[in-house]
Amino acid sequence: MSLLSIERLECRHGLLQAVRGVSFAVARGETVALVGANGAGKTTLLRAIAGAHPPSGGRVLLDGRDITTVPAHKRVGLGVALVPEGRRLFAHLTVEENLLLARAAGRPGRWTVDAVMEAFPNLVKRRHHKAGLLSGGEQQATAIGRALMTNPDVLLLDEVSLGLSPLVVDRVYEQLQGLIATGTTIVLVEQDLNRAMRVADRVLCMLEGAVVLEGAARDLTRDAITEAYFGLGRARHAETAP
Ligand code: ATP
Repeated sequence: MSLLSIERLECRHGLLQAVRGVSFAVARGETVALVGANGAGKTTLLRAIAGAHPPSGGRVLLDGRDITTVPAHKRVGLGVALVPEGRRLFAHLTVEENLLLARAAGRPGRWTVDAVMEAFPNLVKRRHHKAGLLSGGEQQATAIGRALMTNPDVLLLDEVSLGLSPLVVDRVYEQLQGLIATGTTIVLVEQDLNRAMRVADRVLCMLEGAVVLEGAARDLTRDAITEAYFGLGRARHAETAP
């Protein structure tokens, strides 16, 4: 059985339909990348899976259980953790305090402050520093560590590269590869196609709220994803239609 199943999910922002009938499943241990242009609906979809955006239709199932109406804080306790766009740390608290707060909201498991320090060695020297004073890469590591402290079954990552230099992004991705190697189930939003294809088992491309291409990363070409990303196939089809 899939760990996470999204069934015909619909999300709105007022009159605007941001997610249109999206369905996909994520197996335990799998890494799925959501790609698509700005405004394609990736963040809204991720937030709906985390319980931060109430869907207007469809279902979210975790391990076969319908969690569509379960509020975000309770989903954390069931094993769903979101690393939001922009990180949203408590700037005036230390790295360790940010991590411990999450631990209290989550459930028991292998992730401790020491385990996070081991996974993200760049945080060791920063453990007792206020999160607001850290570099972008250190803040991102703290945000991922904070989500891990809840001992999630599914980790949802929204644009971890945002606002970071390419070198720092490489570092964050190296650390993510370590998590993937330990069998963590991940759904991530990534603008950079090359990174998405390197890190993910499967790639889903969204366009105007719908999934327009889905496949194993090893079976998809960059050209096919780019075409879906910009809706070029559809445009060509319209041009040649009678
Ligand atoms: P980005 O990469 O820019 O974050 P995205 O693929 O994550 O894009 P969303 O942020 O989910 O896309 O946005 C989907 C659509 O919903 C867009 O048209 C966006 O303008 C709209 N939208 C997103 N958040 C809100 C909001 N809080 N209020 C109104 N409309 C919103």
